Amino acid sequence: MWAALLPLAAVVGAPLLWSLVRQRRSRARRALEMTRLDNKLQRARHALRQSEERYALAALAANDGLWDWDLVRDRCDFSPRWRGMLGLEHTALLPLAREWLDRVHPDDATRLRADIEALIAGTSPRLESEHRLRHADGTWRWVLVRALALREGDARPLRIAGSMTDISARKRAEEELRRAAMHDALTGLVNRAYFLESLERAVARVQRRPDKTIALLFLDLDRFKQINDGLGHLAGDRLLTSIARRLQGCVRPGDVLARLGGDEFAVLLDDLKDPTDATRIAERMQEALHGPLRNDESEVIVTASIGIAFGGADLEGHEELLRDADLAMYRAKASGKARFEVFDTGSRATERARMELENDLRRALERGELRVHYQPIVDAGDGRIVAFEALARWAHPQRGLLNAASFIPLAEESGTISALGRWVLREALAQLAQWQRDYPSERPLGVSVNLSPREVLQPRLPSNVAEALREANVAPESLALEITESLFIDTGDATLATLRELAGLGVKLHLDDFGTGYSSLSYLHRFPISAVKIDRYFVSRLDAAECEEIVRSVVELSKRLGMDTIAEGAESDEQGVRLRDIGCNLLQGYACARPVPPREAEALLARQAGMSERSRSISSARVFTPHSDIHPSLGA
Ligand code: C2E
Ligand code: MG
Ligand code: MG
Repeated sequence: MWAALLPLAAVVGAPLLWSLVRQRRSRARRALEMTRLDNKLQRARHALRQSEERYALAALAANDGLWDWDLVRDRCDFSPRWRGMLGLEHTALLPLAREWLDRVHPDDATRLRADIEALIAGTSPRLESEHRLRHADGTWRWVLVRALALREGDARPLRIAGSMTDISARKRAEEELRRAAMHDALTGLVNRAYFLESLERAVARVQRRPDKTIALLFLDLDRFKQINDGLGHLAGDRLLTSIARRLQGCVRPGDVLARLGGDEFAVLLDDLKDPTDATRIAERMQEALHGPLRNDESEVIVTASIGIAFGGADLEGHEELLRDADLAMYRAKASGKARFEVFDTGSRATERARMELENDLRRALERGELRVHYQPIVDAGDGRIVAFEALARWAHPQRGLLNAASFIPLAEESGTISALGRWVLREALAQLAQWQRDYPSERPLGVSVNLSPREVLQPRLPSNVAEALREANVAPESLALEITESLFIDTGDATLATLRELAGLGVKLHLDDFGTGYSSLSYLHRFPISAVKIDRYFVSRLDAAECEEIVRSVVELSKRLGMDTIAEGAESDEQGVRLRDIGCNLLQGYACARPVPPREAEALLARQAGMSERSRSISSARVFTPHSDIHPSLGA
């Protein structure tokens, strides 16, 4: 072809000819390219159709809705299935993302928006969000939305697109399982876990809303253990079920009634209109239980003690409300059962202070904050120190030195008393061993250690005491254990055996605070007691004829039984003299000395030793003048 054109070239000139040739060539090339492109397009279209069909089929099979959000034009298209899932087949939808986002449950909206923003910003590679959407019929549907962003380079994406799956059934199943795990199998009421969760949520809500109040009722059946033991556990279970049913009838639809376990129930009253709502429910519950409950053939009367606590924005947490209601319930039990008590917020501060002290006390031992102070017990005849009473003190880091009276009851309640008692015993015996070595005497110095009733109930007490004596290398006769009368009120054989065992070791037992409790002399002979301590109450009222009479009788009887009498709390010389004249052979009180730290107690011993060097002639005819030997000014 190119050869045929040559003569023409000679006519029109070479340049024109060449341009013609080039034009023809490029046209041919373009045609070729077009054909190729067309083929490619056809193939691509085919592939796309195939792929679309595949995806559409997959989406159809997956039952997913599809959406495509063009961010450049801010246009969002929804597939028919997407619309169908929300009952919007016949609703005209605008091509806007609003149609989706405006249907999101208010509680889920913020989270979803944050997820979408993260996808757009590129901080998250994909979107996967479970949220609720409002169906056209007004109900909520749980959906799972998955999406990817199409972006060019690092720029803002051009579009995001994804699928939407209906997961309502799965959510329902999950909820069902959760509910099953949250219910008490016996009564069908919600269980403790569920209750605590609801309570936590209610407290969080009320903390944000100063105008709202919630109430917690804590109900504990009275003497249920006895009833249960008496009936047998199967009947007991049936009884609990009928009780639950009766209680259920007392609460309103929004209230949460739970069985917390055993015979404990609780009610959460969310959004209280009036405090009397809570007390009214408590009354209703007590009335509901009032009628006899039929249990097989027998009828059982059940009562309950209820504690009520209210909470508002100032609540620290749900534990606080639980504790308050629990405390109120215990108060209801303590004041006669079958009643309700409302927790008094005023006492919350005192209660908290008490709990702090209890916590501190638990750690006081480990931190070495406990001390032992010693108060002399003197011979009424010659005024010499025959023993010291060991009295616990607590060097509290903030409150200073605390007397035993201010923390021993707390130690008894909280159970710390056992550890504390063991420590005091060891400390006192080690101290006594040193004093006995440094101040030897024909009549070796003794030490008295107080025991709480709770300690005496421990069967290991005698072996602990024996071990402590061995460790300190102190003779048992040098140790007196002070016990109180309250121990004899309910003495079981075990207590008696413990006391006999202690006496068997050779340790002396002193009856402390005599006259304040049981106040009967008749039982004295049954116990291996070697001294009676007459309580300060009688000593301080010696002027009253009947008090003096009581002291006289105690002294007489003790003498007859071969016991010593120690008068406690002698505060004046005059009292000391009178007590000696009545026949008390030992005295203890501020008139002789106050309880003092070990160093000062030792100074008293040193002074006494020096004095006996100078005059061994304290005649028994001399009037008792304990203060001339040991003056109160030496005291703490
Ligand atoms: P208690 O055994 O009757 O001890 C006598 C209490 O009276 C002591 O108080 C003492 O300081 C105080 N006292 C002594 N003389 C006089 C006086 O002339 N006038 C007045 N007004 N008071 C006097 P404290 O040390 O506060 O002890 C109180 C109670 O705590 C003791 O009563 C005792 O029952 C108990 N206690 C002390 N230490 C211990 C211990 O280590 N273990 C146990 N379980 N209880 C202890
Ligand atoms: Mg005592
Ligand atoms: Mg006493």
